[in-house]
Amino acid sequence: MSESGTTEIETGAAQSGAARVVLATRNAGKIAELRRILADARVPVEIVGLEEFPEIGDVAETGLTFAANALLKAHAVAQQSGLPAIADDSGLCVDALNGMPGIFSARWAGRHGDDQANLDLLLAQVSDVPAEHRGAHFACAAALALPSGEERVTEGALRGVIIDAPRGTGGFGYDPILVPEGETRTTAELSAAEKDAISHRGRAFRALAPVIAEMIA
Ligand code: IMP
Repeated sequence: MSESGTTEIETGAAQSGAARVVLATRNAGKIAELRRILADARVPVEIVGLEEFPEIGDVAETGLTFAANALLKAHAVAQQSGLPAIADDSGLCVDALNGMPGIFSARWAGRHGDDQANLDLLLAQVSDVPAEHRGAHFACAAALALPSGEERVTEGALRGVIIDAPRGTGGFGYDPILVPEGETRTTAELSAAEKDAISHRGRAFRALAPVIAEMIA
C-alpha cells in the first residue's frame, strides 16, 4: 500500500494506460470497493467516478427491477461519457412484504435517502410478523454497458433475518436491522471488510470482474 492508500495494482493500472471505466456513482466508498475487487481479481482497468463528469446528471430509476435500473444508469453514462460504464442498484427485499421495499428501498418512507424514516417504517410494518417469517435479503445488480450498446448484468444477494430493534452503528440504510445467515451480529455491527466479503454488492461486483476482463481489459 502507498501512503495514499492505493495499492500498486491500482496505480499500476492507471500508469500503464489501462482502459478507463466509469462507475456511475459519486460515492467514494463504492469506487474504492470496486477498485479493491478488480485489483484482487487482477483486472487491469482504471475505475473513475462521476466526479470526473460533472456534466452527467442523475438518471431516473424508472425500471421495475434492480437489473433494469442498473442497466438504465450504465447505458446513460456510457452514452454520455463515451466510455464503458458500470452501475449498480440495490435494496432490501423482505419476504413478509412480498419482496418490498425492493427497488423502492431508498424512498420507502416517501423521501429519498431518509434512512432513519425508511428503517422505522419497515420495523413498524413487520412488528407482528413472527420470528420464523422474518427472512429477508439485500439484493444488488451490477451492470456493465459499452458505448456500442453491449451490456451485461450480474447479481448478488445477502440472506438474513430482520430483527425487532436496530443494533450497531456501522454501514448505512437498513444495516442495523438485518442479521445475515450464520451471524449473530447485524450488518451494522460487522467491520467494513467483513461486510464487503459477504455483501450483495461485493458479490455482484466480484461476479462482474471476469466479465469486465473479457469485454474491456
Ligand atoms: P442504492 O442502490 O445505493 O441506491 O441503494 C438503495 C437503498 O437500498 C439504500 O438507500 C438503502 O436504503 C438500501 N441498501 C442498499 N444496500 C444496502 C446495504 O448494504 N445496507 C443497508 N441498506 C442498503
